[in-house]
Amino acid sequence: MDDCIFCNIVKKEADCDIVYEDPDSMAFTDINKQAPVHILVIPKKHMRSLAEIKDADLPIIGHLFDVVNKVAQQQGISKKGYRLVINCGIESGQSVWHLHIHMLGGRRMTWPPG
Ligand code: 5GP
Ligand code: ZN
Repeated sequence: MDDCIFCNIVKKEADCDIVYEDPDSMAFTDINKQAPVHILVIPKKHMRSLAEIKDADLPIIGHLFDVVNKVAQQQGISKKGYRLVINCGIESGQSVWHLHIHMLGGRRMTWPPG
């Protein structure tokens, strides 16, 4: 998708701080960090949102959680804990329409979220 910022990051056509990459996924620092550690984990394949994934996408969705685990260890937040957020759809506030998991860590989280 030419007009998708995360697809452009996958193609290395947009600048970003990549912290993990494999053939199917990528993790990079959010441009507008909301915590000391704020990383986005994405599939390289364009999927608009969690609501639009297909059965064939399920293996990659599982793989993303393995990537989360690896990145959490790499970032030193695995033991203390961290929060995962997937904004899905308009009411969630999703602003980039390429599926992504937010990893937020390095500070104490509060609940309820905003
Ligand atoms: P959403 O609101 O869709 O769940 O989250 C989108 C996230 O992508 C936001 O936290 C925003 O800061 C981040 N973001 C938007 N554009 C860019 C960009 O060009 N580079 C990076 N690294 N993050 C971005
Ligand atoms: Zn995309």
